[in-house]
Amino acid sequence: MFLQRSAVAAARRAAAAPALRRGIAVTAVRRNDKVPAPNYKTFNEVKTAQDLLGPGAKPGTVPSDLEQSTGLERLEILGKMEGVDIFDMRPLDASRLGTMADPILVRSAGDEQYAGCTGFPADSHNVIWLGMTRKRPIERCPECGSVYKMNYVGPDDDAHGHHDHHHGFEEPKTFADYVKPEYY
Ligand SMILES: [Zn+2]
Repeated sequence: MFLQRSAVAAARRAAAAPALRRGIAVTAVRRNDKVPAPNYKTFNEVKTAQDLLGPGAKPGTVPSDLEQSTGLERLEILGKMEGVDIFDMRPLDASRLGTMADPILVRSAGDEQYAGCTGFPADSHNVIWLGMTRKRPIERCPECGSVYKMNYVGPDDDAHGHHDHHHGFEEPKTFADYVKPEYY
């Protein structure tokens, strides 16, 4: 099976339907004015990491995930409550073997991305995890030869200066770093 994660695609889907959601919420409130607004930021209200803190449990009660989760876990829960899968766990294209000319594209919003290959047809070999980075986006499965390419869909780099580092991540040196660049 092939897995990938992309928050950006989910965010785009979320952006496409806020009007509908607002309509449902307003209807619910009008029907019963006693329904209090939630004491936490909802998915569409989340703007910064600070908005991803739960309200905590009432004294003497055991907290639910909704009450106590924070960070990405909280964003995932808030998204699911509104029908948005923020990690986009849909499988990759498994209808063919990737080639250098036509690789299987793996979307990524981050600097690194891992894809699990099980060959073609799917599950014809044990899962092999392939790591791709923005610097070296193409990877080939050593078992079946399928070629994958990371398609970066995250935010653009800072406009002020192009540094060679990506937010502190540095790939470990390998023999590839010491051969001619055209072999890299
Ligand atoms: Zn493979």
